[in-house]
Amino acid sequence: MATKSGKYWVTWADTNAQNSSKVDDLEATFKTNVKAFTKALTDAGAKVTVSATKRSAKRAYLFHWSWKISQGKCKAADAKALAGVDIEWDHGDEEKSKAGALEMVNGFGLAIPPHSTNAPALTSNHIDGKAVDMTISWTGTIKVKKKDGSEASITYSSNVNANAALHLVGDSYGVKKLKTDAPHWSTDGR
Ligand SMILES: [Zn+2]
Repeated sequence: MATKSGKYWVTWADTNAQNSSKVDDLEATFKTNVKAFTKALTDAGAKVTVSATKRSAKRAYLFHWSWKISQGKCKAADAKALAGVDIEWDHGDEEKSKAGALEMVNGFGLAIPPHSTNAPALTSNHIDGKAVDMTISWTGTIKVKKKDGSEASITYSSNVNANAALHLVGDSYGVKKLKTDAPHWSTDGR
């Protein structure tokens, strides 16, 4: 039997739909590429801290629809179903449906207007295991091996999005920078 939307689902997701920060949870090819890139960086003396890898599709689903319903961006009855998540979004009363969804938004700590005007996305390279969030730091200039074995000199910049030399090394390993999101690297730069 389906369980109505509400804070139950926050607890459920924390047990059954967790996000990962383990590189080993990435898609196989990307995992190999990320490991090679980060090894080259650490061998050169950089410090790499991974904060997010594979995102749960079920968690993203709960984020997306709870946000939209609670903010009145759609009716509870408009929410799609997802296999493995037996949630009843529609309480049979729109105000109750919105209240149940809002319990989830608050429980998950989702940003709502004016802080965020976009519903959390249903699709992402993170969900496919094809994106990694990581912080890379070092001091001065280091020499990092590209995939072909040649070395690139890279000077630290506090703005990683502007460090084209670092992006080129990542490219050589198939790990591409999204230049609008500081920690984010992926298979296609998105
Ligand atoms: Zn990311």
